[in-house]
Amino acid sequence: MNERDSEIMGQMLCNADYSPTEDIHQADVIVINTCSIREKAEQKVYSLLGRLKKLKQKKPDLIISVAGCVAQQEGERLQARMPLVDIVLGPQQIYCLPELVSRAAQKGKPLMAVDLSPSFEIPRYIPPSPAISRQKDDRIASTLYFKKFVTIMQGCNNFCTYCVVPYTRGRETSRKPDDILAEIEALAEQGVKEITLLGQNVNSYGKYPADSRNYKSFPELLRKVAALENIKRIRFTTSHPKDLSPELIACFADVAKLCPHFHLPVQSGSNPVLKRMNRGYTVEEYLAKVDTLRQVKPDIALTTDIIVGFPGETDKDFQATMDLLETVRYHGAFSFKYSDRPQAKAVAFDNKVAEEVKSERLSCLQQKQNEISLQKNRGYEGSIQHIMVEGQSKNGDGQWSGRTMSNIIVNFEGPAALSAGQEVQVRITEGLLHSLRGVLSL
Ligand code: SAM
Ligand code: SF4
Repeated sequence: MNERDSEIMGQMLCNADYSPTEDIHQADVIVINTCSIREKAEQKVYSLLGRLKKLKQKKPDLIISVAGCVAQQEGERLQARMPLVDIVLGPQQIYCLPELVSRAAQKGKPLMAVDLSPSFEIPRYIPPSPAISRQKDDRIASTLYFKKFVTIMQGCNNFCTYCVVPYTRGRETSRKPDDILAEIEALAEQGVKEITLLGQNVNSYGKYPADSRNYKSFPELLRKVAALENIKRIRFTTSHPKDLSPELIACFADVAKLCPHFHLPVQSGSNPVLKRMNRGYTVEEYLAKVDTLRQVKPDIALTTDIIVGFPGETDKDFQATMDLLETVRYHGAFSFKYSDRPQAKAVAFDNKVAEEVKSERLSCLQQKQNEISLQKNRGYEGSIQHIMVEGQSKNGDGQWSGRTMSNIIVNFEGPAALSAGQEVQVRITEGLLHSLRGVLSL
C-alpha cells in the first residue's frame, strides 16, 4: 500500500512540473512516506529527519513533508518535535500533496492535513505524467513499468487488537469497480502486463461503503480484470482468512491469469491467542481453507505473517505456532516480534512477554521457516517455470532475473537480447533459500 501511495505522490508532483532526482542535495521537495505498523518503522522516520536537519539549514527553501501513517498518528507532535517538517499529511490526504507543496513554497506556516473521513473516496485516476510513462525504468517507484499496483480499497474495519491500521488509515472503503477497471485499462495501454490488486483486506472488497450494493464482489472483480486482454498476470494482497470465500478459491481453478500465490496471514497457531488478537477464525478453520486451496490448486505457493510474543503468549501457544509451520509448510513467512502500538487494544493487555523471550521465539521460528523455504525451493529443481523477465540480475554477473508465477525470484542465464517484460521458459537448476537459479529453456 505504501509503495503505491509513494508512487501516486510522485506522479502528482511530476504532473505539477517537478521531476525525480536520485541526489537528495538537488531536491526542492522531500516527501518521506511512513509506516507505523511496528515501533521500529516509526523510529526510523525520526532518525531520518534528524539526518535531514543539516540539509534544511543549508537550503531553507527545501520543503520537507512527512506523509502516511506516522504523520497521521503523530500529527502536531511531529512538527513540535521536528520543526524542520513543513507538511504533515495522513494517508487519506496524500492526494492534496501538490496543493500543500505550493502553499508551503509561498512561505506559509507549517501545514497539517490529517483528517480521517468515514466517507473517504479514493480519487478516480491519477494519470502518470508523460515524463514517467516515457521512462522504461520507473524512477518514481521501485516497481517496474510492466508491473503495477492498483489500490482497490482503503482502510480497515477489523480492529485486530495489536494493529494500528484502522486508526491511521480509517474505515474500510472500496473503490468503485468502474474506476478500478478504467485505471487498469489505462495501465494496460501503456504496456503494463502484471497487476497487483491492493488493500488491507481485499477479500472483503465491495462490502463498504454502505451504498456499495451494486459493487462487484472480489472474485467478480478478479474475473473482470482477467478479461482484459493485455493483462497477463494478476496478483492480490492482503487477504484476511475469515473472509476467504469458496468463490475466491474457485478462481484459482479457472482464471488462468491468476498467479498461484496466496499470502494468507495467520498471525498465530494458537486458538486462545487468535481470540485475544480478535482475528475471527480458529486454527482449524484456517487449515480447512488451506486444504481447499491446495485441492483446487496443488502448486499454489502459500506465504504468511506471524507475530511472536503477543501479550499472554505461553510456551505452549508458541509451540502451537511452530507446529502450524510444519503442518502448512509455507513457501515463506514474514515474522515479527509483537510491539505495542498507540490506540491498539492490546496495549492494555496483561502478561506482556519479555523482550529476550520474543527474540528467542523469533529466531527459533525463522530458523524453522528457513529450513522449510529451502526445501520448498529445492522442490522446483528440474521443473520448467514460466518467467516474466524483470531485468539484469542484481548479482551483476550478466544473468537475468525474473519471477515465477508463484512469485519466487529466478536468476538465470540467457542471451543479451532479452528485455524486461518478456515472458520466457526457464529450467530450474537450483533452489536456494530466497531464490532459484536456472537456464533459459528453448
Ligand atoms: N491487513 C493485513 C492482515 O490482516 O494480515 C496486514 C496488515 S499489517 C500491514 C502487516 C503485518 O504486520 C500483520 O500481518 C502483522 O503480522 C504485523 N503487525 C501488525 N501490527 C503489529 C504489531 N503491533 N506488532 C508486530 N507485528 C505487527
Ligand atoms: Fe490490521 Fe487486522 Fe486490519 Fe490487517 S486486518 S490491517 S492486521 S486490523
